[in-house]
Amino acid sequence: MNMEQQVVIITGAGSGIGRETAKLLATKGKALVLVDFDETSGLDTLHAVKEHQLQAIFVQADVSQSLDVKKYVDTAKETFGRIDAFINNAGVLSPPALLGDLDEETFDRVISVNLKGAFLGLKYVLKEMEQQQSGVIVNTSSAAGIQGQPYLGGYAASKHGVIGLTKTAAMEYGPKGIRVNAICPGGVTTNMTKGLVSSPEGNGPLRRLADPTEIANVIAFLISQEASYVNGAIVPIDGGLTS
Ligand code: ADP
Repeated sequence: MNMEQQVVIITGAGSGIGRETAKLLATKGKALVLVDFDETSGLDTLHAVKEHQLQAIFVQADVSQSLDVKKYVDTAKETFGRIDAFINNAGVLSPPALLGDLDEETFDRVISVNLKGAFLGLKYVLKEMEQQQSGVIVNTSSAAGIQGQPYLGGYAASKHGVIGLTKTAAMEYGPKGIRVNAICPGGVTTNMTKGLVSSPEGNGPLRRLADPTEIANVIAFLISQEASYVNGAIVPIDGGLTS
């Protein structure tokens, strides 16, 4: 491994924001560990990034299971020797329902993937980065992590939780040379938002959804040296929706 080459883990790399980020970082020469629950889509992303970057692997893992999280962290270490950046991004949306109609299993599932999954990723990756005394993490929160989201109460709660984890991690690990930030996308044209009805006005001042590349560009900036003083930041990428 070239010591200059950044080693990056991306969870939820099979689709949407994760896939576009993987493709962008491949063109920038990063070594990539792609993680997804869905093997077919994860391997599709691997195939796409291999056009630019041979230093890339796929690890099938469910981010809500600690053994799986340990597996992707250990595999990254064993394959590339270190973890320079972690894009803690895998997530699920729940079917829309008022809180009074939201069933317990749906709530548990969304919290377990979006919040516990984010926690487990932080837990194991921060341990490694602490030993290295360096590293940078981007957690995917959401505009629904900043403001309430009618009919998506479980999702909004999970994404507010991701912000709590981000701010705490930034305070705990900043002194150890590790930066931790969160991005808060609004509506993005990905599998997750397919089927959700939205009006142009509902998409905020720019009157449109984001392309996943517009999210990937900000992630690439946050893990770069150019963002060396950005820590504990909650970065909306929502066209002004939450402003
Ligand atoms: P977005 O990019 O807008 O966040 P997508 O639904 O397009 O939404 O992408 C989310 C990705 O996260 C998908 O590839 C999905 O398979 C992955 N994912 C969902 N749940 C898990 C999980 N428990 N473990 C790992 N990956 C997951």
